[in-house]
Amino acid sequence: MKRILTIGEIVVEIMAVERGNGFRAPTALVGPFPSGAPAIFIDQAAKLGQPAAIVSCVGDDDFGALNIARLRADGVDTSGIEISPDAATGSAFVRYRQDGQRDFVFNLRRSAAAAIRPTPAASALIAAADHLHVMGSAFFAPGIVGLVHDAIEAIKGRGGTVSFDPNIRKEIAGSPDMRAALDHALNNADLFMPSGPELFLFAAADSEQGAVDELLARGVPAIVVKDGRNGARYYDPAGRIDCPAFPVEELDPTGAGDVFGATFVTLWLRGVQPAGALEWANASGALAVSVKGPMEGTSSFAQIEDFAKRASPQRAIPAIGRPNQSSQEPS
Ligand code: ATP
Ligand code: MG
Repeated sequence: MKRILTIGEIVVEIMAVERGNGFRAPTALVGPFPSGAPAIFIDQAAKLGQPAAIVSCVGDDDFGALNIARLRADGVDTSGIEISPDAATGSAFVRYRQDGQRDFVFNLRRSAAAAIRPTPAASALIAAADHLHVMGSAFFAPGIVGLVHDAIEAIKGRGGTVSFDPNIRKEIAGSPDMRAALDHALNNADLFMPSGPELFLFAAADSEQGAVDELLARGVPAIVVKDGRNGARYYDPAGRIDCPAFPVEELDPTGAGDVFGATFVTLWLRGVQPAGALEWANASGALAVSVKGPMEGTSSFAQIEDFAKRASPQRAIPAIGRPNQSSQEPS
């Protein structure tokens, strides 16, 4: 089984119970929930039984302990998570507005996550990895940029593969270092996995097909576009596959892209064809938005299958071997 590695932030998320605008007055909160895009991704991969590890850093505090305990319980190799004696675990306070928009208060740049650095444990995980998933959100810290760059070179250099989710909004892709890091990740990606608008950070065209054509011409082998309640689309030089979303009540969209990405990457690494991988990834993304809490919606094959049958009884989710336990291979 191929070993997946990711590098980046682990944080807790604390949510306002009531919808409304921001945090300028006292409001009831719920949390802390384990979170951080790379952490959610790797938790989902581990729940599908893939060997999965993360390089990260948390504080010597309850927020860090809570995250490590969850990841470990779900099967993630946590040996690459350093515990900083100096900084607190990163956090994100989030409140949903009535219209579904979100207000955030982040503690990231001064958190333990910003101190992610090369360690002997990180080197060992990079040396053992078959696949690296690059999360653009992790490029907020210069030290992580360098570490991801070196991991890409090492893993690609010995024939491994890379997937890349930019996971970044247009407004914050400004710094030259981050731009170079995003381009380096794209140039090395075997799978490029943007959310709809992120595609246009990497192409001049103003239509999805135009942007995809540009990227394929530039040598990106395969592109998976995540499109929320519209589902997802897969493109490679052989053509395009559309996959509609599963109907679901959206309770919490945070983390859906990370869960979707992990399911797609895991199945792709197991040799499942893109159409099948897309269907399972769509189902896991829909399941994730139906659960409150960013990492609370990660799931096993059996849970995804069960959810898909309930959400869309007429829609046959393709068989991929015995989709319910950790150690099965695709048929
Ligand atoms: P984030 O970065 O917040 O984790 P994202 O923008 O990267 O998310 P989305 O496109 O929002 O990713 O969601 C990923 C996938 O999850 C979608 O392609 C779809 O399959 C599924 N999904 C998301 N929202 C919904 C929804 N409301 N209903 C059904 N499926 C959804
Ligand atoms: Mg995303």
